[in-house]
Amino acid sequence: MPDSSPAEANDSIVPASINVAIIGSGPSGFYAAAALFKSDAVTAHVDMFDRLPTPFGLVRGGVAPDHQKIKNVIRVYNKTADHERFRFFGNVMIGRDVAAAELAAHYHAVIYAVGNESDRRLGIPGEDLAGVHSATEFVGWYNGHPDFQDRTFALDQAKRIAVVGNGNVAMDVARVLAQDLDELGATDITDKALKALRMSTVEEITILGRRGVAQAAFSPKEIKEIGALERANLVVDPSEVALDEASSSWLEEHAPPSAKKNVEYLTEHSAQAPGEAGIDIVCRFLVSPTKCEGDGDGKLESVTIETNALYLDDRGTPRPRGTGETFDLSVDLIFKAVGYRGVPLEGVPFNDGWGTFPNTDGRLTEEEGGATVPGQYVVGWAKRGPSGLIGTNGPDSTATVSKLIEDATNGLFAERDADPEALIARLQTNGVTVSDFDDWLRLDAEEIRRGEAKGKVRDKFCSVDDMMTAICELRDS
Ligand SMILES: Cc1cc2nc3c(=O)[nH]c(=O)nc-3n(C[C@H](O)[C@H](O)[C@H](O)COP(=O)(O)OP(=O)(O)OC[C@H]3O[C@@H](n4cnc5c(N)ncnc54)[C@H](O)[C@@H]3O)c2cc1C
Repeated sequence: MPDSSPAEANDSIVPASINVAIIGSGPSGFYAAAALFKSDAVTAHVDMFDRLPTPFGLVRGGVAPDHQKIKNVIRVYNKTADHERFRFFGNVMIGRDVAAAELAAHYHAVIYAVGNESDRRLGIPGEDLAGVHSATEFVGWYNGHPDFQDRTFALDQAKRIAVVGNGNVAMDVARVLAQDLDELGATDITDKALKALRMSTVEEITILGRRGVAQAAFSPKEIKEIGALERANLVVDPSEVALDEASSSWLEEHAPPSAKKNVEYLTEHSAQAPGEAGIDIVCRFLVSPTKCEGDGDGKLESVTIETNALYLDDRGTPRPRGTGETFDLSVDLIFKAVGYRGVPLEGVPFNDGWGTFPNTDGRLTEEEGGATVPGQYVVGWAKRGPSGLIGTNGPDSTATVSKLIEDATNGLFAERDADPEALIARLQTNGVTVSDFDDWLRLDAEEIRRGEAKGKVRDKFCSVDDMMTAICELRDS
């Protein structure tokens, strides 16, 4: 007898269709939905929930306004949203409007795609002084994310700014602070942020990287963009890009090509005469802040910085270690860009140390390496932490969905009843105002229309109330 495929062999135990809830409408959520629709083994009905009425997660609220082309990826997500078995429930927050246990009771499977919505702390004295901010807040603020619209950044009183960290988020922050204002004005940056940037008095932005130039976290493209800014000079001291022995051999033998490109670019750049633009962006390496000092009124004045030296760990990777030598840098503002971390959800296991949801290959587990929580999965930054570009989430979500499909074909969902309609009805009864994908498309068109009138790509609605009011009006028009 010929072998039958796993799907055929298990036809009798796979429900005719499965109901899947995806929590979060960022890249990882949309790639998970697309992977489900591609499968021949299951017929999946997908309900995607997001706490905001606007989809796309960090593509809308994280990617920098002067990186508009990157946002074109939403065309792919729009196609997924167009699928007949896809529904979007915006303005529904899991943990506030719906409990995790309720989702598990109403769906065959739940995929958490909630990203990393908080940030890591430096854990140093003075971190809570006025003037010390996280990049998360600043990025959310200039991108119109409703959570951050009440933040204020004293750009009009700041001459010297330090950005802690030298990953791509740090590069975004430094670049936006020094970007050509007319160029920014044509993007989807908020009017409020643009106005504050126009009043900015910044003259020097110092980017503090704890490792050496060869281990810098930024991508070659991002550092070159800094070097190409018209309003700013990229300043690198030749002594800081000179490689020690450990870095030289690591760069030759183990480093990714991007590290070599960074070193080449910065070495070349450090030999050039300084530019004459109004803002200096100074790249410092092998430095870690150890203390923020304020004036008597609790306002930031300076940061104490310890220099680091590299040592090779057991695997031969260069790591930074404090030398005990310190110096002080006068600063008016600090932006901490040292990594995002997840926010726990009540009733869902969480690894507080890593800021992610514990999982084995995307199957949610009670703890790291522990038993799986049947029917619950995790994708994207919630699964693996804040690493990778938008595209990285595609294969990652597909890998998790393949585990879900394996579970389906092995009969995991056979005995379960799913009843999403009861949950949706319950939301209505409880007065939760839900928006759908058509509402988003109308809001999207309205933002673009408002933007055109102002000569910009779009003019965002920046509060959930404003979004929901506009959605109601647009439904009636
Ligand atoms: C500042 C910044 C700039 C970036 N720029 C780039 C770039 O230029 N190019 C690039 O390729 N990548 C960039 N990235 C990386 C990229 O944005 C991420 O790889 C990607 O967004 C991660 O997708 P995700 O779906 O895991 O999370 P997210 O995009 O964060 O999506 C999570 C979604 O979950 C929702 N959510 C959270 N909690 C709940 C809840 N309790 N209930 C309901 N919904 C919830 C959120 O509202 C959000 O919509 C950038 C990242 C940052 C932080």
